[in-house]
Amino acid sequence: MRATIIYGAGDVRIETVADARLIEPTDALVAVTRACICGSDLWPYKTMEHSDTGRVMGHEAIGIVESVGADVRTTKAGDLVVMPFAYSDGSCVFCHEGLHTSCVHGGFFGTVEVAGAQAEAVRVPLADGTLFVLPVGRDDALTASLLTLSDVMGTGHHAALAARVGPGKTVAVVGDGAVGLCGVIAARRLGAEQIIILGRHADRIALAREFGATEVVSERGDEAIERVRELTGGFGVHSVLECVGLEQSMLTAISIARPGGAVGRVGVPQDETMPASQPAFYNNVTVSGGPAPVRAYIEELLPDVLEGRIEPGRVFDRVTNLDGVPDGYRAMNEREAIKVLIEF
Ligand SMILES: [Zn+2]
Repeated sequence: MRATIIYGAGDVRIETVADARLIEPTDALVAVTRACICGSDLWPYKTMEHSDTGRVMGHEAIGIVESVGADVRTTKAGDLVVMPFAYSDGSCVFCHEGLHTSCVHGGFFGTVEVAGAQAEAVRVPLADGTLFVLPVGRDDALTASLLTLSDVMGTGHHAALAARVGPGKTVAVVGDGAVGLCGVIAARRLGAEQIIILGRHADRIALAREFGATEVVSERGDEAIERVRELTGGFGVHSVLECVGLEQSMLTAISIARPGGAVGRVGVPQDETMPASQPAFYNNVTVSGGPAPVRAYIEELLPDVLEGRIEPGRVFDRVTNLDGVPDGYRAMNEREAIKVLIEF
């Protein structure tokens, strides 16, 4: 089969690899029909040291189950399924608590251990706990939005929950990538009254406004902090969704939270230490978040997608086939594309 392999920074290739196959009796083999490139894929694209073996990338996909192991009960060959970016058993203590990304038997796709889904097929461990069978056909018009349940829509929702978004709250979203845009959708969905997007790309800001952002702050650093305070009566916002992961974005996020507010962080942190410890302390700002347990959110978000109340699939502004994936990485890295959808 053909797959996307990253060998190092800037070195993404489409190559023929050994076919994905069932290994454990709890596995499913899924023929990928849609996948995509994630903002978090850009971190290795920017910084990965050269590897002779490389690894198969991708952790977001929809596909058709080709075969299942002897112990799989909840899905069968022919089902159309969505795959969360992490696999999980659905039965351990953390899965029962809704924190599937801490599953004691779980892990992540697109790692050295478990190959990724920017490929013609993917082996899905713990299929019963991981896969969600979709009630639509292979090429349904809602496919792009359903694909975001793999990661970005669930991640935006997680940021909003961690930031304690609720009816009447004031919200700021730091970052105008696909997750930040989904964070705007999530904040509006949870009843936020004011939603300020911090971003500077015209196409993304326009989409953020359509998703429900009420104000835009395109300044950076201290000027951005000042501007958000101006927009919120001098206090800052109740809830901040940090969707970038850099020191500067985290510093901004904590600085624009009002006293007693909360920051929900879903941007993968690129530093060991967290900035703004003192303002976070003196302002009683809660900082929470982490890898989103998107498997836990599919049931909740799915009806809104199926009934058209939210359209997170609009974050995809470019479609390619597998051969176009290396250029898709380049385009996202150069901010030419927000998010690239891969069709098979
Ligand atoms: Zn578990």
